[in-house]
Amino acid sequence: MINLQTSLSEVRGIGPKFCEKLKKLNIETIKDLLWYFPFRYEDFSNILKISDLKINQHATISGVIQSIKMRRTWKRRMFIIEALIGDDTGSIKVIWFNQKFLITMLKKGSRVNLAGKIVEAANGGLIMSHPIHEILTYSSGGEQSKKEITDLRHTGRVVPIYPETRGITSKGIRYLLKPLIDKIGEIEDSLPLEILKKSGIFNLDKAIRAVHFPETIEEAKDAKKRFAFEDLFFLQLANLRQKIKLSKERAHSLNFKLDDIKELFLEIPFELTFSQKKTLWEILTDLKKPHPMNRLLQGDVGSGKTIVAILAALVLAGQSKSFDVAQGKQSAFMAPTEVLAKQHYETFKKIFHKFDKGAGLITGSMAKIFCGEGLESDLKKSDLIKKIENSGIKIIFGTHALIQKYVKFKDLALVIIDEQHRFGVKQRAELLKNYKSNNEIPHLLSMSATPIPRTLSLTVFGDLDLSIIDELPKNRKPIITKIVAPDNRDKAYAFIRGQVRKGRQVFVICPRIELTTNDQQQKTEDIFEQPVINKKLWLNNWENVKMVKEEYEKLSTKTFPDLRVGMLHGKMKAKEKNEVMKKFKDGGIDVLVSTSVVEVGVDVPNATIMIIESADKFGLAQLYQFRGRVGRGEHQSFCLLFTESSAKSTYSRLRSLIEAKNGFELAEKDLAIRGPGEFLGEAQTGVPDLAMKAVRNPNLVKTSREAAEKILKGDPKLEKYPLLKSRLELFQKEVHLE
Ligand code: ADP
Ligand code: MG
Repeated sequence: MINLQTSLSEVRGIGPKFCEKLKKLNIETIKDLLWYFPFRYEDFSNILKISDLKINQHATISGVIQSIKMRRTWKRRMFIIEALIGDDTGSIKVIWFNQKFLITMLKKGSRVNLAGKIVEAANGGLIMSHPIHEILTYSSGGEQSKKEITDLRHTGRVVPIYPETRGITSKGIRYLLKPLIDKIGEIEDSLPLEILKKSGIFNLDKAIRAVHFPETIEEAKDAKKRFAFEDLFFLQLANLRQKIKLSKERAHSLNFKLDDIKELFLEIPFELTFSQKKTLWEILTDLKKPHPMNRLLQGDVGSGKTIVAILAALVLAGQSKSFDVAQGKQSAFMAPTEVLAKQHYETFKKIFHKFDKGAGLITGSMAKIFCGEGLESDLKKSDLIKKIENSGIKIIFGTHALIQKYVKFKDLALVIIDEQHRFGVKQRAELLKNYKSNNEIPHLLSMSATPIPRTLSLTVFGDLDLSIIDELPKNRKPIITKIVAPDNRDKAYAFIRGQVRKGRQVFVICPRIELTTNDQQQKTEDIFEQPVINKKLWLNNWENVKMVKEEYEKLSTKTFPDLRVGMLHGKMKAKEKNEVMKKFKDGGIDVLVSTSVVEVGVDVPNATIMIIESADKFGLAQLYQFRGRVGRGEHQSFCLLFTESSAKSTYSRLRSLIEAKNGFELAEKDLAIRGPGEFLGEAQTGVPDLAMKAVRNPNLVKTSREAAEKILKGDPKLEKYPLLKSRLELFQKEVHLE
């Protein structure tokens, strides 16, 4: 008797060699194999008569092989098998490439089903090209029996196509799977029946069978939907449980008066936007509660998130008059890079020059302390750390180094993480655990400039509360954005030179080169609707892609030999990157050629031109981000989108960048066009593929979240659902949420 845990090596008919190959794909048990899903399907369910075939059709035919022979092409050393197959309406030529073994399998007189594409022959006739075949066995009467038809695996039905890697063919997988699926008993479902019913999704048993051998394409989609729902549901369960857990913890409860805040506003040289005030209020309201805040502050590049976070830290530090200073609490403000950490520190110093409760900067290479106007000094890192330990410093800016264990805080009440998508859920959790003192853990404020569509943030950041800044400060001039065709390149360069002469600086962003193997390519395909990408076509597309080094060479030696051109890319060491970025910021570089690594939050007000090479290769949200790096100063800024493509679709997509009101609008568009990969840094790679894809389906996100909420509301510890609970624990291990 086989069950899900049965090792494939114990299954009759699977040889050790094949087992080895499967093992390389992490497939060792029947369960692993059943959960190895096809990435697309071919609908060969209609068996057509040969006389009805048409060019470009994908079809299955059923007939007898009338002749078959093999020849070899000399130039390309390829084996070609040619056969003639006939049914009662006519016959058609069939060819296979490099499948020598077929000559021994298919004989004149064999009865076969063939499924493949019909193409036009050189002489104008029809050919079936490189089809999948299935040999039909005769039952005693010579007639094909019913059983044989339902037993079809490769033709005459909706055929699953699996990723073909490491010597394992789709056909091989189908061959293995079909008898196993027929033999395995009912597969137990960990999702409660009430949820299945309410959400109208397949139970596990049905879904597994239908995902591999669906009756129709529709059924296959429904099966995939079930698995997507399941992943989303577990993600939501994990997130919500995390949220419940946190709400049971204690945190410092901030006591403040509205007048104190108003007083702080007076020190700021600009008027806060309505959104900034609103989000600050949401944050302060959280800080008032005796439970830890876990909030994500989202806002476009340049929307002014930093000041909002700093204000929260200031209130905690006890800067305002009515506040008992002795009660002042510490805040840690972490940025992903040194440049950014320093920038935040400098901004703080400039605006709140009267702050005398101690502010510090600590990064890999420096340590500074600021205690009020004129009172700034460099000091040894160890001394700064000591001051942090005895609470001599209330607001500390820094990089990751800040959360490394050697920095101890006396009374850390708030942790701010800038550009939060670079930190994973796990790192967030670590952070809180490390700083538990007096039974209190710090409040956590994450910030991100990546406009993440709501469905996606609900899914991956479901443990966080959201605050959104959805307007830019009023003093911003709109950035003039133009699409530049190849013919206008020289004109654009002349314009750039003119701007640099006036003292402005320029970013040039190039896409990374990403050649992929067949494997990766298949992984990126959408299992729901996207057609298979033709690999050759795809590579050709990338040939035009500008590479950073090449572009740097060209710009520095040919186009702008008289200007100072710099380069920045991901392969450089952090220190080199920092140096280049600093030089650019200080005005020592006119034109900075960079990959998309250029730091998200870096503020270079004098940079007024953003050039994006091969702009069509980027997602809209990403383009929007790049553009946000200019337009921060007093001068008019420009964004030039270079593209080699003249396709209408490219233009209309790029034009949405010109028309969009904010990043969120583009993010929604991007999600629809390109899928969620765009929005997530490496930190979130643990999230299951299917859940990621399902994020495009807001309804599924909503129902899964509601289902998770309902279950937890009635039974927070999942005591009534032991199967669900153990499955959830496994899931959390698998996707590294803890
Ligand atoms: P981001 O949200 O991208 O982190 P920053 O906080 O770096 O944006 O703000 C970008 C710039 O805008 C900074 O120089 C900041 O001082 C300035 N700024 C922030 N809020 C306002 C405002 N309400 N009015 C004018 N300028 C502002
Ligand atoms: Mg920022």
